[in-house]
Amino acid sequence: MKAALIEAGKGVVVKEVERPAIGRGEVLIRMVACGLCGTDVERIRGGYGVGRSAIGHEAAGIVEEVGEDVKWLRRGERVVPHHHTNCGDCYYCLNGSPTMCPEYRRHHFDPGGFAEFFRVPEFIVKRGAIYKITERLSLEESSFAEPLACCLRALRRSGLREGWRVAVFGIGPMGALFLELLNSLGNEVVAVDIRPSRLRLADSIGVRAVDASKADVAEELRSLTGGRGADLSIVATGSSSAILSAIRSTRNGGTVCLFGLPPKGTKVDQDFSDLLIREVSVISSNAASEDEMVEALRLLEERRVNLTKLITHRFPLERFEEALRTFESGEGMKVLITP
Ligand SMILES: [Zn+2]
Ligand SMILES: [Zn+2]
Repeated sequence: MKAALIEAGKGVVVKEVERPAIGRGEVLIRMVACGLCGTDVERIRGGYGVGRSAIGHEAAGIVEEVGEDVKWLRRGERVVPHHHTNCGDCYYCLNGSPTMCPEYRRHHFDPGGFAEFFRVPEFIVKRGAIYKITERLSLEESSFAEPLACCLRALRRSGLREGWRVAVFGIGPMGALFLELLNSLGNEVVAVDIRPSRLRLADSIGVRAVDASKADVAEELRSLTGGRGADLSIVATGSSSAILSAIRSTRNGGTVCLFGLPPKGTKVDQDFSDLLIREVSVISSNAASEDEMVEALRLLEERRVNLTKLITHRFPLERFEEALRTFESGEGMKVLITP
């Protein structure tokens, strides 16, 4: 079978490999669609350090084979597997940090979601972190479950309230998901970016867009919120200037949620007394748990969010390199890999 894999010193290589053999309790999935995500690109480009080489986690597909202990799944069923899951009973799991569970990142797809077939390890299967998809939903749409779940968790951690005005900094694929999600929740949203194509996208979603290359964003947000600033600012980019701008644009007592991963070693020049005096909370949100996966799939199934319009490119596995270049150029929005 074909798979896109990271090879030391070469970046990503598409090659023929053995189809993974599955053991008891494991499941083999035939990939139908797998979204390309910023963290995949970080891994490929080496920004994340060594030892984290599996790529492709926003996958949806069809069950090809089940291990003998797996009674609840059948060959031919359409599914979305979650690439990581927590154990449910360690200190972190019991204290509200499931994505910090030591088991969470230990288990993942083999060889990864960018492969014709991939194996889901027993730990994930046992935890029930493979979701059956009804005919109402296409597998392409279902591949948005994981990124949407990450957005849901960020909003939950931020304590989002009805009526809050939210600023989203960085309208890449994740920023666009936030816009759609917040729109569907009925929160007023302002999108902040510097690329004209992304500002136009925000416009087409029906969201007010602020061009950070031209306007004083904090000033602009205050003028839109009766002089206060955003109740919540989500930073869906790793840009340090966006982080600083988000802090300045957030109202007294408001929250800044760091969501986009900055390059390793990023430092920002921020006066911390300002955070305390203005009681601005800076929090972060990393990945998603099964609660949010279930919620994300419900929103997709009930057509509360429509994300297929965000798909701008589809590339078959053998054109992975081109998919990567398209993603990095920023010209597209959601880039999907297909078999
Ligand atoms: Zn992702
Ligand atoms: Zn745990």
